[in-house]
Amino acid sequence: MNEYIKDLQEQGKLNLSIDLDTNFNWKHFKIAGPCSVEGPSIIEIANEIKLCGADALRAGAYKPCTYPILKEKNGWKEGLRKEGLELLKLAKKESGLPIVTEVMDPRMIEEVGDVADIFQIGTRNFQNYSLLDELGKCNTPVLLKRGTWGTIDEILGACERILVGGNKSIAICLRGVVGMPSYRHVFSTVRWAPDLMMIPALKELTNIPVIYDPSHSTGYRNFVEPISKAAIAAGADGLIIEAHPDPDNSISDPAQAINYETLKSIFNG
Ligand code: PEP
Ligand code: MN
Repeated sequence: MNEYIKDLQEQGKLNLSIDLDTNFNWKHFKIAGPCSVEGPSIIEIANEIKLCGADALRAGAYKPCTYPILKEKNGWKEGLRKEGLELLKLAKKESGLPIVTEVMDPRMIEEVGDVADIFQIGTRNFQNYSLLDELGKCNTPVLLKRGTWGTIDEILGACERILVGGNKSIAICLRGVVGMPSYRHVFSTVRWAPDLMMIPALKELTNIPVIYDPSHSTGYRNFVEPISKAAIAAGADGLIIEAHPDPDNSISDPAQAINYETLKSIFNG
């Protein structure tokens, strides 16, 4: 164990970082929904995923894309933005489900916070310190997605940025990391290596809850159910899963989107 972690542990800082009794309860927390808000369909989707057993609806209104110019040529502007947030409001009202949605910039916290019950921080902003510092000043729970490059120290350090600001309602989301999955030539949508071992590793060091994302970490819908089960077996507190009524026609991340039947099977399995 490195000196920094050892030192924090000896001071009791890691394990005392969160008071699980007074902060947001992430235990057995099940989040699901499409990658993006695609239109008014999000209202019906919210009702459906609730029936599948979800505790919260996920969907991006602001959607960072890896290839923004190409996406825009295809008529997609990195999310429906303000219109997406309004639709999420309606979905929340209709279904009663809390909303998990991404905030990409500290200047957007107020606007997104008007509808978000939980801020999702995307992998691309994992070490956006000005964003993390502002989130520390909020009361809204934060789901911090691990950067695809994030080491264990960097994960704990990023959490610390939020915690020291006073916001203790955080969870770490593992969503796969850079690697060279040797099956990529067969399953071309596999972009990341599932980071399952980080679940017990974090559990040894901190009591910050861990939510697993089997959708981005696998990139392929047939792998989502087995990796969800593996994550729970490894000690994950909850799951965040991409599901869509017509998975192949999802605007973003179609290959990893699952249907309601599979979602229900995972959540009730
Ligand atoms: C997402 O959850 O849709 C997403 C963009 O995830 P990530 O930031 O992990 O790529
Ligand atoms: Mn996605």
